[in-house]
Amino acid sequence: MPELPEVEALTAFLRENAVGSVVTRVDLAAVQAIKTFDPPLSALGGLELTGVARHGKFLDLDVSGLHLVVHLARAGWLHWRTGLPTAPPKPGKGPLALRVHLEDGNGFDLTEQGTRKGLAVHVVRSPAEVPGVARLGPDALEVDRDAFVALMAGRSGQLKGALTDQTLIAGIGNAYSDEILHAARLSPFKMADKLTDEEALRLYDAVRATLTEALERQVGQKAATMKGEKRSGLQVHARTGLPCPVCGDTVREVSFADTSLQYCPTCQTGGKPLADRRMSKLLR
Ligand SMILES: [Zn+2]
Repeated sequence: MPELPEVEALTAFLRENAVGSVVTRVDLAAVQAIKTFDPPLSALGGLELTGVARHGKFLDLDVSGLHLVVHLARAGWLHWRTGLPTAPPKPGKGPLALRVHLEDGNGFDLTEQGTRKGLAVHVVRSPAEVPGVARLGPDALEVDRDAFVALMAGRSGQLKGALTDQTLIAGIGNAYSDEILHAARLSPFKMADKLTDEEALRLYDAVRATLTEALERQVGQKAATMKGEKRSGLQVHARTGLPCPVCGDTVREVSFADTSLQYCPTCQTGGKPLADRRMSKLLR
């Protein structure tokens, strides 16, 4: 799932390559992706793309005052294309969800792999009209130290859930929360309001360091021209069974909400594996 670093890299790419171009046409290939009907998608045609912004994990294209707000969900991506085909795409075929044509024959595709479709596109007059944007907490790279510590102290729940709750802090998802907790040497199941001051500051520093480093890698890779979202430099996320790069212990996995998380027992949980709650519930 694209998170803050990936979406920020796409934002930077579009600022450099697309802002200032006129949108000539927008083709909708996956009907379920569009969540609004007024203004219509066709209203964007003929207008200049004047700016690009990121709100949490949302991408916001300002098209002369109308906003095309995109949430890439789990398996969505944006592909920059030079020389787009002019014939309209066949709806419902393949991963293509939406195609934006710019002048000069360039443009980009929004695609989504897999059968669980979650990619969402909104055309609005203000990004705050998108409920997911309106609910966002402070941005993970903008929240200051005191505000972050206060947010954690006021949250009764596990750190993994707190970090990935977009209404608490915006921009962090499943992958980077695993990386942040590993960097902070904290258990994903530790309660947010039980952090010591020292732990809360360590977590804050880990948020900034992890996201900043990931962003530098993503921007360097020219995200929008990549085949798909590819992450490098991960220490624990999606590395179940592999050695922890810090201590050499085996990275483990445990289920969390509707997904799974990865962590290093030696670095994060005092060497003890976490109990899989889903499994113990089944056995009870
Ligand atoms: Zn380790």
